[in-house]
Amino acid sequence: MDLARTDFYLDGAWVAAGGGETVAVHNPATEEVVAAVPAGTAADVERAVAAARAAFPGWADAAPADRAACLDRLHAALTARTDEIARTVALELGTPLRVATRVQAGLPLTVLRGYVELAAAPPADETIGNSLVVREPVGVVGAITPWNYPLHQVVAKLAPALAAGCTVVLKPSELTPLTAYLLFDAVHEAGFPPGVVNLVTGTGPVVGEAIAAHPDVDLVSFTGSTATGRRISHLAADRIARVTLELGGKSANVVLDDADLAAAVKVGVGNAFLNSGQTCTAWTRLLVHHERYDEALALAAGATAGYRLGDPFDPATRLGPLVSAAQRDRVHEHVARGLADGGRLVAGGPDAPLPDRGHFVAPTVIADVDPDSALAQEEVFGPVLAVMAFHDEDEAVSIANNSRYGLAGAVWSADTDRALRVARRMRTGAVDINGAPFNPLAPFGGYKQSGLGRELGRHGLAEFLQVKAIQR
Ligand code: NAD
Repeated sequence: MDLARTDFYLDGAWVAAGGGETVAVHNPATEEVVAAVPAGTAADVERAVAAARAAFPGWADAAPADRAACLDRLHAALTARTDEIARTVALELGTPLRVATRVQAGLPLTVLRGYVELAAAPPADETIGNSLVVREPVGVVGAITPWNYPLHQVVAKLAPALAAGCTVVLKPSELTPLTAYLLFDAVHEAGFPPGVVNLVTGTGPVVGEAIAAHPDVDLVSFTGSTATGRRISHLAADRIARVTLELGGKSANVVLDDADLAAAVKVGVGNAFLNSGQTCTAWTRLLVHHERYDEALALAAGATAGYRLGDPFDPATRLGPLVSAAQRDRVHEHVARGLADGGRLVAGGPDAPLPDRGHFVAPTVIADVDPDSALAQEEVFGPVLAVMAFHDEDEAVSIANNSRYGLAGAVWSADTDRALRVARRMRTGAVDINGAPFNPLAPFGGYKQSGLGRELGRHGLAEFLQVKAIQR
């Protein structure tokens, strides 16, 4: 199967990339090159932004029902590609196929379905005294996305932007661009007006910076690392462009003394290791009451032993490789430093057996981690769980909040009022009590250095709208 792609999607058509430079796409489980995509330039971004700008007035003025109908057709075209999407994510990212089907392909379809409905019924005008308050689309959106949930992160930007009446230029991660191409096959099939949605692939420093710095991009919607988010903010600040940022995390899973420990640890380990730990919301710090600490460590070691590493396409595999050799090496360095800083190895670690090839890291649990140490403070982005003990609720909250991040978290207690009290004290954008399910309509985003703004549901839509007051 030839997976190479040679075009950008500009102004409603596939257009051959002129430059000749390409970016190789790897299979992280085999380390082989499986495809190449064009490496865009600032000139390609120029064409894409011009197309999006020209399409903006028509799309902004389109009837909400027409925008909803386009998104509905996109939903149908994507649904028809579910298997292909899951297989492509398994290939270019290494997510086990079962998880790729349920989460990587399934979640974006749920998110998109929600925005079909929100597009059809946009927020109503409001009256405040003598003012009519109306909402209007922000304009041209530059969307820049990472590799760890390559379809979800794109859909979480594209769908609300389009529902709001904005037009879009997307740059997906250069590590996982093939999934974005499948999305744009579906975009083409859905028949959006030319210029409403555009795709330019390539690297962050070239294509990403050209988008972030472009004077005609009204809003940059970015998901990725905090360092890149900072850079994008600087570029956008020069022209006071809006920025929404979904960045890193170091989320705490707080297990109170009265919790169902077996459930808390099992779900907590599963959350920390989902997608090989390459999940921004991962609960990478397990905080356990000191009286139940040893029991929790035994449970965590037992749960970790069940994570079989291997080929993402093998149904028995529960943990795939990391996305790249660089990412694997970074994670190994974090583990070594965590142990050197006084952490105690409970499972996995540098000497655990690994498959012969592929960018694998053994699922690893490290206990007695100092809350101020690098392992407790830095985002690892691999299957590594740091465990710490606390003595009372106040100490648990203080350790949980001892982070420059604030994206997600969890609390476990038999007393849901008590759990809610602790959840309210956590300085983070989301908290799950007793393993409550993910809600794709709830606002998603971070406090502190985890980001600015919210995605998903009506809060996500609001990011793409301006507010105008008309006095009468
Ligand atoms: P990254 O910041 O390296 O790259 C993200 C995107 O930004 C890519 O498309 C990349 O090409 C582009 N980019 C890189 N440098 C750029 C520059 N100078 N200007 C413009 N664009 C540039 O992040 P990553 O390694 O792809 O993703 C991992 C990070 O993303 C982790 O820190 C993770 O926590 C975070 N993340 C956050 C969320 C969230 O919703 N909060 C979700 C997923 C991932």
